Amino acid sequence: MQLVTAPNGVCYLRSDLIAFPHGFSTRVGGVSTLPHTASLNLAFGRGDADAVVLTNLARFTEAVGVPGEVISLPQVHSADVRIVGEADRGLGYFHPAKDACDGYVTADKGVSIGVKTADCVPILLADEEAGVVGALHAGWRGTVAGIARVGVARMISLGADPARIKAAIGPAIGSCCYTVGEDFCRAVAGSPCANLCLPHIYRREEQPTADLPAMNVAILRSAGLREENIDCTHLCTCCRTDLFYSHRASQGLRGTMLNLIAIPKGE
Ligand SMILES: [Zn+2]
Repeated sequence: MQLVTAPNGVCYLRSDLIAFPHGFSTRVGGVSTLPHTASLNLAFGRGDADAVVLTNLARFTEAVGVPGEVISLPQVHSADVRIVGEADRGLGYFHPAKDACDGYVTADKGVSIGVKTADCVPILLADEEAGVVGALHAGWRGTVAGIARVGVARMISLGADPARIKAAIGPAIGSCCYTVGEDFCRAVAGSPCANLCLPHIYRREEQPTADLPAMNVAILRSAGLREENIDCTHLCTCCRTDLFYSHRASQGLRGTMLNLIAIPKGE
């Protein structure tokens, strides 16, 4: 994973594993001026005027090199992953969003799909040979409900092969900062992915900590992805508030990152 600064000043992360245009945004390179949203806030309802958010979206999509009409609905920490296409362009940003969704897959060229995060785990997926991509929002609820597994299954339904799927896991809160309670541990133990997730709850300190990115790596591996096809950044959103928005570090007063991917039109 490398941190890139585009000619327009937008700073984002990309994975060398994936050739299709994709990026995990940072908070650097936008036009938001509020202390908590400065400067690349990519979500409505965080304090910025909608026009500011749309300017940031235009800057970020230009930097990454994907079409600007990104699909990204409100998110509800579910494991629902929707197959989208041409007709859905702009859903959530340019067309009113009546519903919610936490993940998307598409086989349509030039359709940008994105998920929003500020500590939760963003996962971008691509089977470049089949021409299928995915974007998933995996907070702890989505993680233990297996959204990564659902996303891979949706990609397979569009012709992808898990042995070929490349996964990039972007900046999220790390186990350095993600202290959890006993209710969290009990919920994980009762979840469909308990056997894969429980090994990533650590009890070295007085209060347990959890490693959400590692849980998602384990789930992706169990869904058939190869270890060498999973690229996971170890940048922690809560440690690096100079680069990222963190829900926990800011106690909720924050902007939001966007993580997106598209199949290029010429492919
Ligand atoms: Zn940290």
